[in-house]
Amino acid sequence: MISKGGSEALLRVLVDTARTPDPDYDVLLPLLRLLAKVGLRDKKFGQKALDLEALDVTLILARKSLAHSYHLLHYLWVLRVSASSVTTAAMLGINGAMELLFKVITPYSRRHTRIVRAATEVLAALLKSKSNSRRAVNRGYVASLLRLHQDWYSHDADHTYVTIRRGLLLCLKHIATLRSGREAFLAAQGLETLLGMAQCCLDQESAEPAVSAMLQTLRQGHPRSPLPLLTARSAYAFPDTASATPEPPHALTEEDFEDNSDEEVDKDSESDPAKEEDDDLETDVDKLSAKPGLDRPEEELAQYQHMCPELSCSFEELQSPLGYDLNLEDAQHANHHHIPTVTFPGQHCFNKDHSSWGPERTNPASASLLCRVKTGRSFKRRPSVNAPPNRQTSSAGTEDPSGHDASGIQAFPEEDAWDREAISCPRIRDFSSSPKPGETAGVLEQLLRAHHKQIPFHDPRVYMAKAQRTRSAVGFEMVAFPDLWGHCPPSGAQPMLERRRGIQRIKILEDVRRLTQPNDIINRVVFSLDEPWTLQDTTPGCLRFFSKFESGNLRKAIQVREFEYDLLTNADVNSSEHQQWFYFRVSGMRAAVPYRFNIINGEKLNSQFNYGMQPTLYSVKEALLGRAGWIRTGEEICYYKNHYCQHATAAGGTKHYYTLTFSITFPHSDDDCYLAYHYPYTYTALMTHLDLLEKSVDPQRVYFRQGVLCQTLGGNPCPLVTITAMPEASSPDQLEQFRHRPYQVITARVHPGESNSSWVAKGALEFLVSEDPVARLLRENFIFKIIPMLNPDGVVHGNHRCSLRGEDLNRQWLSPRAHLQPTVYHAKGLLYYLTSIGRRPVVFCDFHGHSQRKNVFLYGCSVKETLWQAGCAVGAPGLVEDVSYRTLPRILDKLAPAFTMSSCSFSVEKSRASTARVVVWREMGVARSYTMETSYCGCTQGPYQGLQFGTSELQEMGAMFCLGLLILELKSVSCSHQLLARAAALLNGGEDALDQHLQRCSGGGGGRSSSPELDDEPPCLEEIDYSGDGSSDQEASLPELDRQIQECASHREWGEGEEEEEEGAGLKQSGVRLPATVQNSKWLHRVFYDGDLCMFT
Ligand SMILES: [Zn+2]
Repeated sequence: MISKGGSEALLRVLVDTARTPDPDYDVLLPLLRLLAKVGLRDKKFGQKALDLEALDVTLILARKSLAHSYHLLHYLWVLRVSASSVTTAAMLGINGAMELLFKVITPYSRRHTRIVRAATEVLAALLKSKSNSRRAVNRGYVASLLRLHQDWYSHDADHTYVTIRRGLLLCLKHIATLRSGREAFLAAQGLETLLGMAQCCLDQESAEPAVSAMLQTLRQGHPRSPLPLLTARSAYAFPDTASATPEPPHALTEEDFEDNSDEEVDKDSESDPAKEEDDDLETDVDKLSAKPGLDRPEEELAQYQHMCPELSCSFEELQSPLGYDLNLEDAQHANHHHIPTVTFPGQHCFNKDHSSWGPERTNPASASLLCRVKTGRSFKRRPSVNAPPNRQTSSAGTEDPSGHDASGIQAFPEEDAWDREAISCPRIRDFSSSPKPGETAGVLEQLLRAHHKQIPFHDPRVYMAKAQRTRSAVGFEMVAFPDLWGHCPPSGAQPMLERRRGIQRIKILEDVRRLTQPNDIINRVVFSLDEPWTLQDTTPGCLRFFSKFESGNLRKAIQVREFEYDLLTNADVNSSEHQQWFYFRVSGMRAAVPYRFNIINGEKLNSQFNYGMQPTLYSVKEALLGRAGWIRTGEEICYYKNHYCQHATAAGGTKHYYTLTFSITFPHSDDDCYLAYHYPYTYTALMTHLDLLEKSVDPQRVYFRQGVLCQTLGGNPCPLVTITAMPEASSPDQLEQFRHRPYQVITARVHPGESNSSWVAKGALEFLVSEDPVARLLRENFIFKIIPMLNPDGVVHGNHRCSLRGEDLNRQWLSPRAHLQPTVYHAKGLLYYLTSIGRRPVVFCDFHGHSQRKNVFLYGCSVKETLWQAGCAVGAPGLVEDVSYRTLPRILDKLAPAFTMSSCSFSVEKSRASTARVVVWREMGVARSYTMETSYCGCTQGPYQGLQFGTSELQEMGAMFCLGLLILELKSVSCSHQLLARAAALLNGGEDALDQHLQRCSGGGGGRSSSPELDDEPPCLEEIDYSGDGSSDQEASLPELDRQIQECASHREWGEGEEEEEEGAGLKQSGVRLPATVQNSKWLHRVFYDGDLCMFT
């Protein structure tokens, strides 16, 4: 009806009817109701009413009907739907609509509440127009509205009139979007008044619509301020000689700030996500088709020959791998039979139960990866029952002496003899000089001898030696204790944190209270990188902070209240943005006291911290007690838009910031603890790990070469690892087989904040060199080229996203330059080289971390799926596509507990044209080119459902990925008979069990993708308005208006002057939700690939 001009026709009838000298209300009233209903659904209704002069007519009639509330109500409805358009609203304002409404909106009275309510709603709609808001400020409406609200509030103990109160609050909220509006709101004591009211009725469910509006108004009315920093630019600078003009690559617009999304993230359901995504899909078939050809002279490829020594090695020089320059007393940590098990039975963190405390990590011979898949061992995990440290201490009130190590080690020997603070963040050079007893280095040595538990593939002495070679623009002198000492995962994955109802509101009110009740506010800077020296307050009773170590990120700490600190993280080097990753030391705490931390310069629109994720904590005292490890901890966690903003550089838009708040109860008093966004994994940790791995392998069997891809801008070597099996003999046959093994290429950690990707890569590396039969088969059949850290400099400097030049390296694959993006340039060069000699990799996968979604999933590339998603014709002649890119994710879906097919996507977006995945697919022609995304948080499906990832689960994912590669090969037509036979032998006897298990974990063979889960965010107990935009208010009231009209139409007897009591408590705001993004992947499964994969059946 609307598309056929129905609105216009009805509006014309209205104008004609109204212009008759004595309008017939029997016609007019039903017409007005009809108009209001149509107007609700016609987005252009306001403009149409304006064009047809129906707006003037309605306003005039409304004015005339002031004494006749039943008629007036109808006019208000029409005005309400007309005012949805800002232009119309402004026009109504000019014509005096606000004055009219102020005549209708009276102080409290039991009469005409319906009219008052409708009028407040029209007024709120009008005030969305800035010119109306300005007029409202000039006429002193802010104070009037506050008084009106106060009046209704004070007469509304049982919340009968919440809708009127809500309407008035929304008026204030809209006015407060103007700076002058906020000033008027402050001057009229708006913050104090509303804060007091909000605190009173926070928990009253019947007041909910009003409370929600109060919160929105408080947030909008809060004065804006710039971040407490002199400049948003990073505190660390890299003298970038390569680029003469260090200008940002493009002018920043507000949209840039809004869409500061993670790798391959889904848009938030702000407006029309499906449409936005479609807009980004590449529909140019030319750009989707393979583009063979080089981005550099062909001669250059020759240099990559030396990165593939395996292709020319004659194995006459079989020798032991490189040793390291430290004389290790104990080289036996090298575990030849290591499998990245999820559980380390001997290691417990914060566990009072010592019965299971074994002397050594057991390593059952049966624990091969296939066995674990078969027996489902890794899937039977339960949430950790360990009490988190805060509960342990708070229940006892003090430190728990029984929490000491069962092995009887005295925790802190001769404590006065050494400076614990120096131990908790030791100096790099101290360790290298010959240690004398009593000195830091000597004490550390002593501690290592007495306390250090064996951690697979970790050695503090090697770590320290490696740290001396790690180069930074900052010149770090310290290493963080957790990286040095090592990390043992807790015995089980920790459950996601259940969000306490209303927690965000409580936090926001606490923030507002800083302004209205400033008596307990301290506001003292206690740590800052921005001074010529690093400022560190050592006042007793105040926490001490430190972050000047590898991967450390904390720029400033401000003590707000006795137990509350505002923290600011550092922007990426040579940039003013990308604040997300944090990693710092905190000391001087009291046990059993919750400390509130607010990281106030977040940039993302939303965070997994709103959906069960907790930050990670490492306690030095716990580590010395034998419980070395990061744990997820923190309560009262939420993430929301705050009042800090900054003018964006070029476009002049405003950039808003977000607060991540959490409370930590530390396990011990006067401890040294480290807090991080996610389990840290430094560049030095990687270099240590690679050396120890190399030491661990049997060089007669495993070919393990640690090469260097290139030097980074910061002067750190970027390692390139080659893993395959040694030929059994140097006979020509054997050498031939060795050299013709297909390549598999894995890269990781291009985004430094995504430390989860490093743990996944660590799992893959350890698995590939292990004695697991699957690993052996993999080595014998493939050559693995692994670049475990594509952005070492970023990792070293605690960046979240970028290189030292402030560039996102995963947007540089189209045309990298050797002197600007060396790691990407040479990684691409190596891939070109392999392709040029006919050795294109079977699979290319780049490991990432995802901050918005849960589970693990792959992004791949498909022309057909991209066109299909974009609504283009897929059946174009000549468009043939191999669907083999779907096989690996489907295998992983059945195999890996954390992986889910339902989150995978195979669309090629324009904005991702320069990512590794798309470039390797398009330019090298690797059909199976992927980005693997691992959630920072945890899983919503499978055996880990409801659990947060620990490092064991991440490492397991790395091993499972490798197993997936083997099964992919078994299913391929090129699979050799020999491999099939060997795999069959391996699977023999266990085949049924394996099969059953796979059936089970894939939900009866249908695949987990058939689960109803579409949205990756579970619904929260409360509506999380993290943005503070509160854009939902009008949308929510429209269906309500619809309902009112309906109701009125069915109560024709409703007469003038009748007293009405509005239903209050029963009036539930109907939250309108945009339809969930339609996920087509399930459908696509059927279209493209149904029934292809039946493992072992
Ligand atoms: Zn990433």
